[in-house]
Amino acid sequence: MREQTALLRQQAELLEGARDAIILRDFESGLIEYWNQGATKIYGYDQAEAEGRIVHDLLKTKFPKPLKQILDELADTGSWEGELMHVRKDGSLIVVESRNVLLRDDDGRPRALLMINRDVTRRRRAEERLRENEQRYRVIYDRSPIGICRVALDGTLLDMNEALEAFLEIVPRGAIIGRNLSEITHPDDLAAKTALYGELESGLRDRFQLENRYLTGAGQVAWGNLTVSSVRDTEGRTLYYVAMVEDIRERKHAEQELTAALRAAKVANEQLERVNKEKSMFVAIVSHEFRTALTGILGFSELMREEELGVAEMKEFASDIEKDAQRLKRMINELLDLERMESGQMTLRLDHVDVNGLLRQEAAKIVGSSPAHRLEMDLDPDLPAVLCDGDKITQVLSNLLSNAVKYSPEGGAIEIHSHADGNLVHATVRDHGLGMPAEALRRVFQRYARIESSATRYIKGTGLGLAIVSQIVGMHGGRVWVESELGRGSVFHVELRASGPEDSL
Ligand code: ADP
Repeated sequence: MREQTALLRQQAELLEGARDAIILRDFESGLIEYWNQGATKIYGYDQAEAEGRIVHDLLKTKFPKPLKQILDELADTGSWEGELMHVRKDGSLIVVESRNVLLRDDDGRPRALLMINRDVTRRRRAEERLRENEQRYRVIYDRSPIGICRVALDGTLLDMNEALEAFLEIVPRGAIIGRNLSEITHPDDLAAKTALYGELESGLRDRFQLENRYLTGAGQVAWGNLTVSSVRDTEGRTLYYVAMVEDIRERKHAEQELTAALRAAKVANEQLERVNKEKSMFVAIVSHEFRTALTGILGFSELMREEELGVAEMKEFASDIEKDAQRLKRMINELLDLERMESGQMTLRLDHVDVNGLLRQEAAKIVGSSPAHRLEMDLDPDLPAVLCDGDKITQVLSNLLSNAVKYSPEGGAIEIHSHADGNLVHATVRDHGLGMPAEALRRVFQRYARIESSATRYIKGTGLGLAIVSQIVGMHGGRVWVESELGRGSVFHVELRASGPEDSL
């Protein structure tokens, strides 16, 4: 027996230099028979203090399971491994990884137990700290109001937190995991995003930030501010990406509204500026026209006063004066008319009027005034009468016809056409003159609007005629519009409602 102990001690002593605690104890009594230097280092008791003591009393062992079970396992299998908690000499707690081997006597009975204990306190603490850290980060990940996900190098979504799932409106939950990021990225943002991921992968940068749009599970487009960072291993190889997505829908919406408001303000401003410019141009034109007419009147009256003139000359000058005075009257009337119409002070004297008759009458005036122009009339003989103010509609047609002549200085055909269209009477005046650019077509009906070009510069006008036309037609509940092509000519359309049986005077 003693021999055996000596042998065991000898074997154990071979391990003297080991860092682990090597303890030999009697199986039955638990008395320590051998205690190496490693054990002294770990527990603080020296050999003399330890040997002869019951190991679990000395070290106040805490077992992971009842001792009985451990002993049974030892007896069955000859060994047991597990984690034990011990108290050092200085009272501090340590965790050891304990490997136990059962030694039997010659008769095969359990004789002693060789314990090899390794201090894993530090490792356990580090693991615990890691676990705590992991838990902390998991809480942050799970509860973050910002969407977070991990993306594999090929763009596959590895996982994502609740905030991101909510933002992307993914149903059922988790449905997007394993799919590619490109599936939920707006196609217009895909190229920019792919390029940035490429720069991450090639190591050109460590992170990037991009405002981009996502396609949500509910079929909506959602703006998010994306920040992506690479996660690398110790050798610098990228393992995966961590992407954070901040919901910026509200900000984008506000920005878009602001841009729209600014654009609207700019348009309004430009319009205001144009009206202003047109108004000052109008003042300049009108004063010029007035001055020209007055200069004529003054010049001719002076001549008549100063010179000895014959009756024929007198009459000629008087007629020139009259022409200038008529022009002045017309301009003043136009201005006053427009003012009255726009302020709703003009009343209509309604009658059943034959529009063909008005067209013929106004066309006849042109034939005399402009030999360069050829009139082509195509009037509907069955045109119904129109309940309207004949004088005002005459003014409309006269304006359109004189414009047709004025703005086709090279002459050419002026085509006058009428036809009935259901209960509407439609009249058009076409010329083959200067025409107008498309952008001007709506503007010409506004006050003071004149289309400036080198060709129109020398054509006199105040920009009031079509504004008056539009007012008059509007007062009759009708429509007026123009089709035109620059250099090709224009067609002005007037549409009025035909008199019906209910239209009594
Ligand atoms: P104006 O006194 O300048 O003729 P209007 O109100 O009658 O004023 O017309 C406004 C502008 O519309 C004109 O200055 C001219 O540029 C354009 N316009 C009108 N009629 C024609 C037409 N038949 N052909 C080409 N341009 C026209």
